Amino acid sequence: MLTFGFSSGTVGDPCKAESMREPDLEQRLDLLMSLATDDRDGPPPRLRHTKDVGALRPLNIRSLRPAPGKRMSLLRVLMTNACSYNCHYCPMRRDRPMPRTLLKPEELVRIFLAAHQQGWCQGLFITTGIPGHPTKVMDDLIAVLELLREKHRFAGYIHVKLVPGSEVAQIDRLTALASRVSLNFEAPCGASLAQIAPDKSFSTTLHDFERVRKLVVLEQEAQAHGKPHDPFHPGGASGMTMQFVVGATSDTDHALLDTISRLKTGGGVHHPHFSAFRPISNTPLENTPATPALREHRLYQAAYLLGSYGFAPDEVVYGPGGNLPLAMDPKAAWALNHPECFPVEISSASHEELLRVPGIGPLAARRIVAQRGSIVLRGLSDLRKLGVITHRAAGFLLLRGRRLQTIRWSEQLGFWAPEEDVGAQHIVYQVSPGTFR
Ligand code: SF4
Repeated sequence: MLTFGFSSGTVGDPCKAESMREPDLEQRLDLLMSLATDDRDGPPPRLRHTKDVGALRPLNIRSLRPAPGKRMSLLRVLMTNACSYNCHYCPMRRDRPMPRTLLKPEELVRIFLAAHQQGWCQGLFITTGIPGHPTKVMDDLIAVLELLREKHRFAGYIHVKLVPGSEVAQIDRLTALASRVSLNFEAPCGASLAQIAPDKSFSTTLHDFERVRKLVVLEQEAQAHGKPHDPFHPGGASGMTMQFVVGATSDTDHALLDTISRLKTGGGVHHPHFSAFRPISNTPLENTPATPALREHRLYQAAYLLGSYGFAPDEVVYGPGGNLPLAMDPKAAWALNHPECFPVEISSASHEELLRVPGIGPLAARRIVAQRGSIVLRGLSDLRKLGVITHRAAGFLLLRGRRLQTIRWSEQLGFWAPEEDVGAQHIVYQVSPGTFR
């Protein structure tokens, strides 16, 4: 049993309470790192610089909202920031001088179990650089998952980044033990990837992605047909994710979303991740402008339309250059391109029609359809109670034949904050906050 000399909810003696106060995030991470090694002479060289590497340190704790109303904390572990690859956008690339750290599987497991025991996290997210051959790193990842699942009987959530170029048996084993497996595609095609990641192969990533997908789909189908969920061998059934760097190449949003749509066609994918490119000091792309964070946001919104709102890939509206408009969200852009579909009558519209209205999400659409027969909707305040973002939706709606506001939807758009951050000054970063999701 690991104890740190503090507890939550201490009452009584204020001096004692002070010494028993809940540690903040930095203190928690320091305490957890101190568990990494039993070495009485202090940490080994591979762990001496963990405080010097900022966002590339081995540990962090992230809070997530996996579903509305739910919260979950993940211990995020960067198993090593050492890498033999030389990706042009990456702060951990081989040729960039920086302190390197490495946690061994047993150390990582000890740290995670302590954090979990303290209630600081419910699940684990593991990512890693690739020092040496991918099969060696995969062996270490598998060792972590085997220790947690089969020795320590941890039944909770584990999300792991698969290292492309591994052996098929390794992919199978890792997927069997993980709740979620993700892969970094980085670019929408091989030609683009070669420009920014010369050691990576799009076809290898795609091959390994398809292998994981096959296993995940089999597991999801088996569970849908009554196979009991095995918490120690969840088979990746939470669904895969895949990551893209946005703006490091000239690839358009259209190209990215087309690739994602193709990748999702075979099933097994939960959602994509996007990381807006940031120029990192001492890398070949140091002088390349940063990608606006708003572009990343618009891509998430468009991917959500494709995944949860029933939009087809060819319904997404792009600007002349092939990118999503920054000044309005993709659903509003579609609505403005389809005036023939509006206004929508709330009292009779189908669930699908309601979902197409800006300001109405899946939950609000479901509530409207479920409740409009049993309650009297009188106006915007009633719609607001059902979850409608009325300042966006009002101009697109009718209620029993009556307009809900006199301003037309095209004029209404002028009131929406576009969060425009195009033209921001050039900032060069030490690390990219989104690179390792
Ligand atoms: S993106 Fe990954 S593989 Fe490429 S240099 Fe960075 S850590 Fe290594």
